[in-house]
Amino acid sequence: MLIDTFNRKIDYLRVSLTKQCNFRCQYCMPDTPDDFFDNTALELPKLLEFIKVAIDNGVTKIRVTGGEPLLRSDIAEFIGGIYAYKNDIEIALTTNGFLLEKFAQSLKNAGLKRINISLDSLKPERIRAISKRDALPQILRGIESAQNVGLGIKLNMVALALTRDEICDMLEFGRERGILVRFIEFMENTHANSDLISLSSAEILDTISSRYKVTPLFKEHFGPAKLFSINAPAKDGRSYAFGIIAPHEDDFCASCNRIRLTSEGVLCPCLFYQDSVNAREAILSGDKEAMDTLLKQAVFNKPEKNQWSEKEVQISERAFYHTGG
Ligand code: SAM
Ligand code: SF4
Repeated sequence: MLIDTFNRKIDYLRVSLTKQCNFRCQYCMPDTPDDFFDNTALELPKLLEFIKVAIDNGVTKIRVTGGEPLLRSDIAEFIGGIYAYKNDIEIALTTNGFLLEKFAQSLKNAGLKRINISLDSLKPERIRAISKRDALPQILRGIESAQNVGLGIKLNMVALALTRDEICDMLEFGRERGILVRFIEFMENTHANSDLISLSSAEILDTISSRYKVTPLFKEHFGPAKLFSINAPAKDGRSYAFGIIAPHEDDFCASCNRIRLTSEGVLCPCLFYQDSVNAREAILSGDKEAMDTLLKQAVFNKPEKNQWSEKEVQISERAFYHTGG
Protein backbone atom coordinates (compact mmCIF):
# COMPACT_ATOMS: atom_id res chain seq x y z
CA MET A 1 0.00 0.00 0.00
CA LEU A 2 1.24 3.53 -0.79
CA ILE A 3 0.94 6.00 2.10
CA ASP A 4 2.46 9.49 1.84
CA THR A 5 4.06 11.55 4.61
CA PHE A 6 0.70 13.22 5.40
CA ASN A 7 -0.87 9.82 5.99
CA ARG A 8 -2.87 9.86 2.75
CA LYS A 9 -3.44 6.56 1.00
CA ILE A 10 -2.43 6.84 -2.68
CA ASP A 11 -4.50 4.42 -4.74
CA TYR A 12 -5.31 6.49 -7.84
CA LEU A 13 -2.95 6.78 -10.83
CA ARG A 14 -3.60 9.18 -13.70
CA VAL A 15 -1.66 8.25 -16.80
CA SER A 16 -1.10 10.63 -19.70
CA LEU A 17 -0.65 8.67 -22.93
CA THR A 18 0.62 11.61 -24.97
CA LYS A 19 1.06 15.35 -24.68
CA GLN A 20 0.01 15.68 -28.28
CA CYS A 21 -3.50 16.95 -28.99
CA ASN A 22 -5.76 17.60 -31.96
CA PHE A 23 -7.27 20.65 -30.17
CA ARG A 24 -5.64 23.85 -28.93
CA CYS A 25 -7.94 24.78 -26.05
CA GLN A 26 -7.54 28.33 -24.77
CA TYR A 27 -7.24 27.18 -21.16
CA CYS A 28 -4.76 24.43 -21.94
CA MET A 29 -2.39 24.83 -24.92
CA PRO A 30 -3.45 27.78 -27.11
CA ASP A 31 0.05 28.71 -28.28
CA THR A 32 1.40 25.27 -29.09
CA PRO A 33 2.15 25.03 -32.82
CA ASP A 34 -0.29 22.89 -34.85
CA ASP A 35 2.45 20.54 -35.98
CA PHE A 36 3.64 19.82 -32.42
CA PHE A 37 4.52 16.14 -32.27
CA ASP A 38 5.19 14.11 -29.14
CA ASN A 39 8.36 12.16 -29.91
CA THR A 40 9.11 11.29 -26.29
CA ALA A 41 6.00 9.25 -25.48
CA LEU A 42 6.75 5.72 -24.32
CA GLU A 43 5.24 2.74 -26.10
CA LEU A 44 2.01 1.71 -24.42
CA PRO A 45 3.20 -1.84 -23.58
CA LYS A 46 6.06 -0.20 -21.62
CA LEU A 47 3.65 2.07 -19.73
CA LEU A 48 1.53 -1.00 -19.01
CA GLU A 49 4.46 -2.62 -17.17
CA PHE A 50 4.69 0.41 -14.90
CA ILE A 51 0.95 0.27 -14.28
CA LYS A 52 1.30 -3.35 -13.16
CA VAL A 53 3.89 -2.22 -10.59
CA ALA A 54 1.49 0.49 -9.38
CA ILE A 55 -1.33 -2.08 -9.11
CA ASP A 56 0.97 -4.38 -7.12
CA ASN A 57 1.46 -1.41 -4.76
CA GLY A 58 -2.25 -1.02 -4.13
CA VAL A 59 -3.42 1.29 -6.94
CA THR A 60 -7.08 0.45 -7.64
CA LYS A 61 -8.16 3.38 -9.83
CA ILE A 62 -6.61 4.50 -13.08
CA ARG A 63 -7.55 7.41 -15.30
CA VAL A 64 -6.20 7.42 -18.83
CA THR A 65 -5.78 10.95 -20.15
CA GLY A 66 -3.46 13.25 -22.10
CA GLY A 67 -3.08 15.40 -24.26
CA GLU A 68 -5.62 13.52 -26.31
CA PRO A 69 -5.40 9.81 -25.40
CA LEU A 70 -7.37 8.66 -28.47
CA LEU A 71 -4.43 9.75 -30.63
CA ARG A 72 -2.75 6.51 -29.45
CA SER A 73 -4.13 3.98 -31.91
CA ASP A 74 -3.45 0.99 -29.61
CA ILE A 75 -5.33 2.48 -26.66
CA ALA A 76 -7.97 -0.29 -26.56
CA GLU A 77 -5.26 -2.99 -26.30
CA PHE A 78 -3.62 -0.95 -23.54
CA ILE A 79 -6.84 -0.75 -21.52
CA GLY A 80 -7.55 -4.43 -22.18
CA GLY A 81 -4.04 -5.20 -20.87
CA ILE A 82 -4.78 -3.46 -17.55
CA TYR A 83 -8.00 -5.44 -17.09
CA ALA A 84 -6.24 -8.65 -18.06
CA TYR A 85 -3.76 -8.02 -15.24
CA LYS A 86 -6.45 -7.20 -12.67
CA ASN A 87 -10.05 -7.19 -13.68
CA ASP A 88 -11.48 -5.23 -10.75
CA ILE A 89 -9.41 -2.10 -11.40
CA GLU A 90 -11.57 0.97 -11.95
CA ILE A 91 -10.45 2.52 -15.22
CA ALA A 92 -11.82 5.71 -16.71
CA LEU A 93 -10.79 7.67 -19.78
CA THR A 94 -10.86 11.43 -20.38
CA THR A 95 -11.13 12.56 -23.99
CA ASN A 96 -12.10 15.57 -26.06
CA GLY A 97 -14.42 13.23 -27.98
CA PHE A 98 -13.19 14.10 -31.48
CA LEU A 99 -12.13 10.53 -32.34
CA LEU A 100 -14.55 8.77 -30.03
CA GLU A 101 -17.01 7.61 -32.67
CA LYS A 102 -14.21 5.48 -34.12
CA PHE A 103 -13.03 4.08 -30.75
CA ALA A 104 -16.20 3.70 -28.65
CA GLN A 105 -16.90 0.05 -29.52
CA SER A 106 -13.30 -1.17 -29.20
CA LEU A 107 -12.93 0.62 -25.84
CA LYS A 108 -16.11 -1.01 -24.62
CA ASN A 109 -14.93 -4.40 -25.89
CA ALA A 110 -11.63 -3.88 -24.04
CA GLY A 111 -13.62 -3.62 -20.80
CA LEU A 112 -13.80 0.16 -20.31
CA LYS A 113 -16.89 1.21 -18.41
CA ARG A 114 -16.54 4.94 -17.91
CA ILE A 115 -15.56 7.88 -20.01
CA ASN A 116 -15.39 11.63 -19.38
CA ILE A 117 -15.89 13.79 -22.44
CA SER A 118 -14.98 17.47 -22.55
CA LEU A 119 -17.71 19.63 -24.05
CA ASP A 120 -17.35 23.37 -23.52
CA SER A 121 -20.19 24.65 -25.68
CA LEU A 122 -23.11 23.50 -27.80
CA LYS A 123 -22.43 26.23 -30.39
CA PRO A 124 -20.10 25.31 -33.25
CA GLU A 125 -18.51 28.76 -33.47
CA ARG A 126 -17.70 28.73 -29.76
CA ILE A 127 -16.14 25.28 -29.90
CA ARG A 128 -14.03 26.65 -32.75
CA ALA A 129 -13.08 29.73 -30.69
CA ILE A 130 -12.19 27.70 -27.60
CA SER A 131 -10.48 24.66 -29.15
CA LYS A 132 -9.35 26.16 -32.50
CA ARG A 133 -11.00 23.17 -34.20
CA ASP A 134 -14.30 22.92 -36.00
CA ALA A 135 -15.19 19.96 -33.86
CA LEU A 136 -18.73 20.11 -32.49
CA PRO A 137 -20.34 17.56 -34.90
CA GLN A 138 -17.58 15.01 -34.23
CA ILE A 139 -17.81 15.48 -30.45
CA LEU A 140 -21.59 15.05 -30.53
CA ARG A 141 -21.29 11.91 -32.63
CA GLY A 142 -18.65 10.64 -30.18
CA ILE A 143 -21.02 11.18 -27.24
CA GLU A 144 -23.80 9.36 -29.08
CA SER A 145 -21.56 6.42 -29.99
CA ALA A 146 -20.33 6.11 -26.40
CA GLN A 147 -23.95 6.03 -25.21
CA ASN A 148 -24.94 3.50 -27.87
CA VAL A 149 -22.22 1.04 -26.85
CA GLY A 150 -23.16 1.42 -23.18
CA LEU A 151 -20.24 3.41 -21.76
CA GLY A 152 -21.02 5.45 -18.63
CA ILE A 153 -20.47 9.10 -19.55
CA LYS A 154 -19.73 12.32 -17.71
CA LEU A 155 -19.42 15.64 -19.54
CA ASN A 156 -16.82 18.21 -18.45
CA MET A 157 -17.31 21.90 -19.20
CA VAL A 158 -14.63 24.40 -18.16
CA ALA A 159 -16.73 27.33 -16.93
CA LEU A 160 -15.82 30.54 -18.76
CA ALA A 161 -17.50 33.94 -18.95
CA LEU A 162 -17.76 33.38 -22.72
CA THR A 163 -20.10 30.43 -22.22
CA ARG A 164 -21.95 31.49 -19.07
CA ASP A 165 -25.17 31.79 -21.10
CA GLU A 166 -24.85 28.10 -22.03
CA ILE A 167 -24.51 26.64 -18.56
CA CYS A 168 -28.22 25.87 -18.26
CA ASP A 169 -28.35 24.63 -21.88
CA MET A 170 -25.55 22.23 -21.07
CA LEU A 171 -27.50 21.00 -18.05
CA GLU A 172 -30.54 20.43 -20.26
CA PHE A 173 -28.37 18.60 -22.79
CA GLY A 174 -27.17 16.29 -20.02
CA ARG A 175 -30.59 15.92 -18.44
CA GLU A 176 -32.24 14.88 -21.72
CA ARG A 177 -29.60 12.19 -22.22
CA GLY A 178 -29.23 11.09 -18.60
CA ILE A 179 -25.59 12.25 -18.49
CA LEU A 180 -23.93 13.93 -15.50
CA VAL A 181 -22.47 17.34 -16.40
CA ARG A 182 -19.57 18.70 -14.34
CA PHE A 183 -18.55 22.34 -14.46
CA ILE A 184 -14.85 22.87 -13.82
CA GLU A 185 -13.36 26.08 -12.48
CA PHE A 186 -10.53 27.25 -14.68
CA MET A 187 -7.17 26.44 -13.07
CA GLU A 188 -4.64 29.18 -13.70
CA ASN A 189 -1.52 27.99 -15.44
CA THR A 190 1.20 29.73 -17.42
CA HIS A 191 0.31 27.87 -20.65
CA ALA A 192 -3.27 29.16 -20.85
CA ASN A 193 -4.48 32.24 -22.68
CA SER A 194 -4.03 34.99 -20.09
CA ASP A 195 -7.09 36.90 -21.38
CA LEU A 196 -9.49 34.15 -20.33
CA ILE A 197 -12.23 35.20 -17.96
CA SER A 198 -13.18 32.30 -15.77
CA LEU A 199 -16.22 31.66 -13.58
CA SER A 200 -16.07 30.75 -9.92
CA SER A 201 -18.17 27.96 -8.48
CA ALA A 202 -20.39 30.64 -6.85
CA GLU A 203 -21.02 32.21 -10.26
CA ILE A 204 -21.82 28.82 -11.76
CA LEU A 205 -24.26 28.10 -8.94
CA ASP A 206 -25.87 31.57 -9.27
CA THR A 207 -26.40 30.98 -12.97
CA ILE A 208 -28.03 27.60 -12.41
CA SER A 209 -30.04 28.84 -9.42
CA SER A 210 -31.60 31.57 -11.57
CA ARG A 211 -33.43 28.80 -13.47
CA TYR A 212 -33.70 25.83 -11.08
CA LYS A 213 -33.98 25.12 -7.41
CA VAL A 214 -30.57 23.70 -6.52
CA THR A 215 -29.98 21.31 -3.61
CA PRO A 216 -26.49 20.26 -2.47
CA LEU A 217 -25.92 16.52 -2.43
CA PHE A 218 -22.66 14.70 -1.70
CA LYS A 219 -19.26 14.29 -3.32
CA GLU A 220 -19.17 12.02 -6.37
CA HIS A 221 -17.59 8.60 -6.34
CA PHE A 222 -14.30 8.36 -8.28
CA GLY A 223 -14.11 12.07 -8.92
CA PRO A 224 -13.48 15.44 -7.30
CA ALA A 225 -16.86 17.09 -7.96
CA LYS A 226 -19.44 18.24 -5.44
CA LEU A 227 -22.87 17.18 -6.62
CA PHE A 228 -26.13 19.13 -6.61
CA SER A 229 -29.64 18.21 -7.72
CA ILE A 230 -32.08 20.42 -9.60
CA ASN A 231 -35.84 20.41 -9.43
CA ALA A 232 -36.24 18.91 -12.89
CA PRO A 233 -36.19 15.15 -13.26
CA ALA A 234 -33.79 13.12 -15.37
CA LYS A 235 -35.07 10.98 -18.25
CA ASP A 236 -35.72 8.05 -15.93
CA GLY A 237 -37.86 10.18 -13.60
CA ARG A 238 -35.24 10.33 -10.84
CA SER A 239 -33.82 13.65 -9.73
CA TYR A 240 -31.11 15.00 -11.99
CA ALA A 241 -27.71 15.92 -10.56
CA PHE A 242 -24.79 18.00 -11.82
CA GLY A 243 -21.30 18.53 -10.42
CA ILE A 244 -18.89 21.40 -9.79
CA ILE A 245 -15.14 20.93 -9.52
CA ALA A 246 -13.82 23.90 -7.56
CA PRO A 247 -10.12 23.71 -6.72
CA HIS A 248 -10.19 27.32 -5.50
CA GLU A 249 -12.72 26.48 -2.80
CA ASP A 250 -12.52 22.84 -1.96
CA ASP A 251 -9.72 21.39 -0.01
CA PHE A 252 -9.06 18.45 -2.34
CA CYS A 253 -5.57 18.21 -1.02
CA ALA A 254 -6.48 16.90 2.43
CA SER A 255 -7.96 13.78 0.87
CA CYS A 256 -5.83 13.64 -2.30
CA ASN A 257 -5.19 10.01 -3.31
CA ARG A 258 -3.51 10.67 -6.67
CA ILE A 259 -0.24 10.45 -8.41
CA ARG A 260 0.41 11.13 -12.10
CA LEU A 261 2.55 9.52 -14.76
CA THR A 262 3.39 11.44 -17.93
CA SER A 263 3.71 9.82 -21.33
CA GLU A 264 7.51 10.07 -21.15
CA GLY A 265 7.60 8.24 -17.82
CA VAL A 266 7.85 11.07 -15.29
CA LEU A 267 5.96 10.77 -12.01
CA CYS A 268 4.30 13.96 -10.79
CA PRO A 269 3.16 13.93 -7.17
CA CYS A 270 0.97 17.07 -7.58
CA LEU A 271 -0.70 18.82 -10.52
CA PHE A 272 0.50 22.20 -9.26
CA TYR A 273 4.19 21.77 -8.49
CA GLN A 274 7.08 21.18 -10.86
CA ASP A 275 8.57 18.56 -8.55
CA SER A 276 8.78 15.15 -10.22
CA VAL A 277 10.54 11.78 -10.23
CA ASN A 278 11.91 10.49 -13.51
CA ALA A 279 11.08 6.83 -14.05
CA ARG A 280 11.72 6.84 -17.81
CA GLU A 281 14.90 4.78 -17.80
CA ALA A 282 13.42 2.23 -15.41
CA ILE A 283 10.31 1.88 -17.59
CA LEU A 284 12.32 1.72 -20.83
CA SER A 285 14.53 -1.05 -19.46
CA GLY A 286 11.60 -2.87 -17.82
CA ASP A 287 13.35 -2.75 -14.42
CA LYS A 288 10.45 -3.50 -12.07
CA GLU A 289 12.48 -3.05 -8.90
CA ALA A 290 13.58 0.43 -9.96
CA MET A 291 10.00 1.32 -10.99
CA ASP A 292 8.82 0.23 -7.57
CA THR A 293 11.45 2.37 -5.80
CA LEU A 294 10.73 5.44 -7.94
CA LEU A 295 6.99 5.13 -7.42
CA LYS A 296 7.52 5.05 -3.66
CA GLN A 297 9.89 8.05 -3.94
CA ALA A 298 7.23 10.06 -5.80
CA VAL A 299 4.63 9.23 -3.15
CA PHE A 300 7.10 10.23 -0.45
CA ASN A 301 7.64 13.59 -2.24
CA LYS A 302 3.94 14.44 -2.45
CA PRO A 303 3.39 17.98 -1.09
CA GLU A 304 0.68 18.72 1.44
CA LYS A 305 -1.24 21.21 -0.66
CA ASN A 306 -1.52 22.95 -4.03
CA GLN A 307 -1.80 26.73 -4.25
CA TRP A 308 -4.99 27.25 -6.26
CA SER A 309 -6.85 27.29 -2.96
CA GLU A 310 -4.65 30.00 -1.40
CA LYS A 311 -6.22 33.41 -0.73
CA GLU A 312 -4.00 34.88 -3.37
CA VAL A 313 -4.32 32.40 -6.20
CA GLN A 314 -1.02 31.30 -7.67
CA ILE A 315 -0.31 30.29 -11.24
CA SER A 316 0.97 26.80 -11.88
CA GLU A 317 3.73 26.20 -14.41
CA ARG A 318 2.56 22.68 -15.08
CA ALA A 319 0.98 22.15 -18.48
CA PHE A 320 -2.26 20.19 -18.17
CA TYR A 321 -1.75 18.58 -21.56
CA HIS A 322 1.65 17.36 -20.42
CA THR A 323 0.92 16.16 -16.90
CA GLY A 324 -2.54 14.88 -17.81
CA GLY A 325 -5.45 16.97 -16.51
N1 SAM B 1 -7.78 15.96 -24.12
C1 SAM B 1 -8.64 15.39 -23.16
C2 SAM B 1 -9.79 16.30 -22.82
O1 SAM B 1 -9.71 17.47 -23.14
O2 SAM B 1 -10.74 15.82 -22.22
C3 SAM B 1 -7.94 14.94 -21.91
C4 SAM B 1 -6.88 15.83 -21.35
S1 SAM B 1 -7.45 17.38 -20.70
C5 SAM B 1 -5.95 18.11 -20.14
C6 SAM B 1 -8.32 16.83 -19.25
C7 SAM B 1 -9.30 17.80 -18.67
O3 SAM B 1 -8.59 18.92 -18.19
C8 SAM B 1 -10.35 18.33 -19.64
O4 SAM B 1 -11.64 18.10 -19.12
C9 SAM B 1 -10.05 19.79 -19.73
O5 SAM B 1 -11.21 20.54 -19.92
C10 SAM B 1 -9.41 20.06 -18.39
N2 SAM B 1 -8.53 21.22 -18.37
C11 SAM B 1 -7.49 21.51 -19.17
N3 SAM B 1 -6.93 22.68 -18.83
C12 SAM B 1 -7.65 23.15 -17.77
C13 SAM B 1 -7.57 24.33 -16.96
N4 SAM B 1 -6.63 25.24 -17.16
N5 SAM B 1 -8.47 24.49 -15.97
C14 SAM B 1 -9.42 23.55 -15.75
N6 SAM B 1 -9.54 22.43 -16.47
C15 SAM B 1 -8.68 22.23 -17.48
FE1 SF4 C 1 -6.29 19.03 -25.87
FE2 SF4 C 1 -7.72 18.33 -23.77
FE3 SF4 C 1 -5.91 20.30 -23.60
FE4 SF4 C 1 -8.11 20.72 -24.98
S1 SF4 C 1 -7.99 20.31 -22.78
S2 SF4 C 1 -6.03 21.20 -25.66
S3 SF4 C 1 -8.51 18.75 -25.82
S4 SF4 C 1 -5.48 18.20 -23.95
